[in-house]
Amino acid sequence: MADPAFQQCLNPACAATYDVAQVLVACTRCGNLLDIRYDWGKLPTIKSLSYFEHRWSTKGVGVEGTLDFSGVWRFRELLPFYRREEEIVTIGEGRTVLQQADLLARQLNMNPGKLLLQYEGLNPSGSFKDNGMTAAFTHARMVGAKKVACASTGNTSASLAMFASLAQMRGIVFIGSGKIALGKLSQALDYGALTLQIRGDFDDCLRRIRQVAVDMPELGIYLMNSVNPFRLEGQKSIMYRILEAMDWQSPDWVIVPGGNLGNCSAFGKAFSELKELGLIKKIPRLAIVNASGANTLNELVSRRGLKWNGGAFDASLIQRHYAALDESNYRPHTVASAIEISRPVNLPKALRALEVMNGVTLEVTDDEILEHRAMVARWGFGCEPASAASVAGLHKLRESQTIGADETVVCILTGHELKDANATVKYHTGIDLSAAQELAPRSEPKGKLSNRPVVVDDDLKAIIAAMEGRG
Ligand SMILES: *Cc1c(COP(=O)(O)O)cnc(C)c1O
Ligand SMILES: [Zn+2]
Repeated sequence: MADPAFQQCLNPACAATYDVAQVLVACTRCGNLLDIRYDWGKLPTIKSLSYFEHRWSTKGVGVEGTLDFSGVWRFRELLPFYRREEEIVTIGEGRTVLQQADLLARQLNMNPGKLLLQYEGLNPSGSFKDNGMTAAFTHARMVGAKKVACASTGNTSASLAMFASLAQMRGIVFIGSGKIALGKLSQALDYGALTLQIRGDFDDCLRRIRQVAVDMPELGIYLMNSVNPFRLEGQKSIMYRILEAMDWQSPDWVIVPGGNLGNCSAFGKAFSELKELGLIKKIPRLAIVNASGANTLNELVSRRGLKWNGGAFDASLIQRHYAALDESNYRPHTVASAIEISRPVNLPKALRALEVMNGVTLEVTDDEILEHRAMVARWGFGCEPASAASVAGLHKLRESQTIGADETVVCILTGHELKDANATVKYHTGIDLSAAQELAPRSEPKGKLSNRPVVVDDDLKAIIAAMEGRG
């Protein structure tokens, strides 16, 4: 293995390694998640984080397409898995802001200057997912992928569709027939992804996407769902940008909503690497906030004591919990659709992040999410419901005195306010304008670029036919 980068099984008892250019969704030996690892000794040494400062100061001058223009790739030495810079797929993602939110801080009984909001909704497709997609698409290009796919009702598909168009790959999105946030759906259609609405729920979509992308390699589909470890490499940069905006000082706390737990996992990885490289002194504490209607992480960690435990975590605890969910035919339910997930794929990595960052988990109700979303809009500049779980979580941690009024806190606002305008209008008027229905067009759409979604039964043959334009 000549590359300084490689893939490695997360399970320390296995620790199998794989070439960085292999396309895998799990360890082939034991089935665990994979991590991207680096042999830092083979890479140029970075003496201090201020090494990256000159890029910040010139980033406005660069034209789109140059690496310093990107808030992800201006830190490229910290995610050096790519082989050639020309292969990097970038659209100027990660040019986001850290805003000092004193008006909101007052509402939460925090001292001025202590609450900072990281607006990841300012990414090109309107959510933090772009940080990860730029990295995963770079890997996809590196391995020569032509078709990329994900199952998602939301921001993952919006981001995938945008990058697929940019990279000139075929983007394929599976959505279920449940509720759909119109802002996100409209993006997938607009950016030209083939959008298959499968008559089933999100779990059905996930199962089907794994069948076509993992079990049938002959179809040549590169999987962009959260199990893709390259996405997490890009998401580390959210932490780098916070450090950059704070003059390379760590905050006391980072608070993030938890769905599939990729983001929080990336944060933990970012800090453990920075520490290993001797580039930071202090690691902030982490709070991961679930919605009460999708609270697997908090249930297992806070109530049942699940811990990373050096990689030897109690997997039976998780299996028992999932078996109980199955038995009661449990379906997660929350207004924060981006975190409506009860089997988070990155759970083990999140446990590791909690250990690295001395973290806590908690959960907040839909009412708390909606009230805090409205507060962020009234005293900040807005976010979608899932994002506000971070601020609602902070409020709780203030009330319990877990966080003091004078500690410096960064809440990650993961998605743009306009992603789910229906939630906002409903909050203010009580009127629900959402259209939960089949997307089969009533009449042939007339626009020159009309990209009509395809409604298809939850049937493998029908799905493959639809993907190949024979639907
Ligand atoms: C995807 C998403 C989340 C959840 O992030 P995970 O990495 O899956 O935990 C939270 N908020 C928004 C807006 C998202 O799009
Ligand atoms: Zn393994």
